[in-house]
Amino acid sequence: MLIIRQEVSLLSCNTFGIPATASVFVESDNISELSEYVRSLSEPFSVLLLGGGSNVLFVSERCNTVIRPAIKGIELIEETDEDVLLRVGAGEIWDDFVSWCVKRNYCGVENLSHIPGTVGACPIQNIGAYGVEAKECIEKVEVINMANGQTIIFNNSQCVFNYRDSFFKQNKGKFLITAVQFRLSKQFEPNVRYEDLRLELSNYKHITVDNVRNGIIAIRSRKLPDYRELGNAGSFFKNPVISKETVEKIKKIDSSAPLYQASQEYWKISAAWLIQQCGLRGLRDGNVGVHERQPLVIVNYGGATGQEVFNFARKICDSVKAKFGVELEMEVNIV
Ligand code: NAP
Repeated sequence: MLIIRQEVSLLSCNTFGIPATASVFVESDNISELSEYVRSLSEPFSVLLLGGGSNVLFVSERCNTVIRPAIKGIELIEETDEDVLLRVGAGEIWDDFVSWCVKRNYCGVENLSHIPGTVGACPIQNIGAYGVEAKECIEKVEVINMANGQTIIFNNSQCVFNYRDSFFKQNKGKFLITAVQFRLSKQFEPNVRYEDLRLELSNYKHITVDNVRNGIIAIRSRKLPDYRELGNAGSFFKNPVISKETVEKIKKIDSSAPLYQASQEYWKISAAWLIQQCGLRGLRDGNVGVHERQPLVIVNYGGATGQEVFNFARKICDSVKAKFGVELEMEVNIV
């Protein structure tokens, strides 16, 4: 059913707990109804497409139209001895889907446990954690073209997935994701090359798909604040991908910098480490702060406005740039 409401508070629709209002708020669990609604819009590209609100910062106090797809369901489309193909509604909670898969021994998404947000949001920034990216198991992405309301199915290569990036991120607001198809293996092959995960799993007798999930939940629960207690949008900044030249500069400043080679020419560096080295861990300015346990997370201590958070984030970027010459990129969508 298509539900259209006017003057809706977005406070409970974003994990940062930032106040904002939508002039029109549209929700539906039906793809045809959503297509028809999109066709009726005179300015479809000015619409905000919202998922779980875990990666958004409302700097404007007002949005015109917000659409939140509430399409639910996990459907088994294909099954062989080796794998399964699942079609999952965009409105499903990502971590509920991961838990559902782990319970059935469908493997491939367990390293992505405990990432907040919806299934529909996962292809946009090609969520990734502990050496696994969503693109590795996404087979197809079903969307509504915001330009004309038509439904389209993208195959994996058409999604142009990259590090925390995709065709959908590059074309923000142009496609409304309605469902994602995942191919998951029935054979468990653990990916435990990340130090944190390897250490955590040394507490377990066996490495099972269940234990990988439990281990990651344990790490993330220790490191990350619960948005229900302290408003936040998870990692506020992307881990920067930097050139060899910048690597050399950083090594001169601090030879112990945690650097990981991403390709022949590029390296990844921990944004949390950069922020910490600038002495900003735990820094608080009024209602906003850098989280004590994970400097990549900006928190709302209560009553912060989006503009306050944004200004604070800019100051962090400026400090990192001044000390290391690295430009931090905000991962959170600024609206
Ligand atoms: P972390 O594990 O301290 O990693 C910091 C940075 O170092 C990341 O760029 C990570 O690459 C890289 N890295 C660490 N160990 C590596 C290894 N063995 N091989 C290659 N690269 C390595 O980061 P964290 O902040 O505690 O987060 C844990 C995981 O969750 C990370 O994988 C992080 O990227 C992920 N995460 C993802 C999202 C998202 O998708 N939106 C949000 C928050 C955190 P990668 O970034 O490629 O892992």
